[in-house]
Amino acid sequence: SSNRPVRVRFAPSPTGMLHIGGARTAIYNWAFARAMGGTFILRIEDTDPERSTEENTQIILRAMKWLGLDWDEGPEIGGAFGPYFQMQRTDTYAEALETLKERGFAYPCFCTKEELDAKREAAEKEEGGYAGYDRTCRALDPEAAAARIAAGEPHVWRLKVPDDHGPIEFEDAVYGSLSFPADVMDDMILVRTDGTPTYNFAVVCDDANMQISHVIRGDDHLSNTPRQILIYEALGFPVPTFAHLSMILGPDGKKLSKRHGATSVEEYCERGYLPDALVNFLALLGWSLDGETTIIERDVLTSKFSLDRVTKKDAVFDETKLDWM
Ligand code: GLU
Repeated sequence: SSNRPVRVRFAPSPTGMLHIGGARTAIYNWAFARAMGGTFILRIEDTDPERSTEENTQIILRAMKWLGLDWDEGPEIGGAFGPYFQMQRTDTYAEALETLKERGFAYPCFCTKEELDAKREAAEKEEGGYAGYDRTCRALDPEAAAARIAAGEPHVWRLKVPDDHGPIEFEDAVYGSLSFPADVMDDMILVRTDGTPTYNFAVVCDDANMQISHVIRGDDHLSNTPRQILIYEALGFPVPTFAHLSMILGPDGKKLSKRHGATSVEEYCERGYLPDALVNFLALLGWSLDGETTIIERDVLTSKFSLDRVTKKDAVFDETKLDWM
């Protein structure tokens, strides 16, 4: 997959402002696309209707523009590219589900929440604990299942993880070789009772459809990656290269939060910081040009950025150092 044209995306969920960590992820994707002569995509992941808001989308778009992170594709709005919105792409997910059904990798599950909760509780009391969904509905006769669907019985769609799947292995561009056992992977839900795709399913459908070559994102998604690889395999799509970025900590070594000061791009904009200074500063939180240079002009970043100089060490964000830039 390394000789595919470089196509990357930044995929924020509009459930809050654009935070320092998200902004760094956006900068790395953008700089990588520019340095490689590739394509940078912005995709708003708004499939969680309870937590996504239009206001947050606007805040994220403003922050992207203020930082100067321009994207190269998307539905045209007033002569410019808008971002992609997952909620406008539901056909993609429905199509992918059809593909999985045809290939025998998806099955309907009629277990109710109450049934699943009771099973989980019982399993937690046993030695070994809860090992995921017990796959009851895998064993259903397909015709009987089809009849229940036709009768309107609520159901989700699950991924059928192959029984004989060996460990899931991949080469992370930052973390190196990683391996996860497949036999502990749940037959995860792909499509919920209301027909909406789950996060893992929507992300894989979009990344595959948009021919994303490199998925550069926070390492809070590392445990999702083996699950997503199973979905790629089931769909028969090439698996992209993954690059997971380490956490950003405050000067006290704790996860960056409000008590460390301003944590959103919006706040820095309002306080009169220059976007170039913030881009420069965030670019160096986990990447370096040569281990020495601290002032990185935008054109250096967009010509010299490379994944092999991204470190897996946790980065420390110290607001007071930004004041010196
Ligand atoms: N929407 C996800 C988030 O905001 C990111 C998904 C991804 O980059 O794969 O955490």
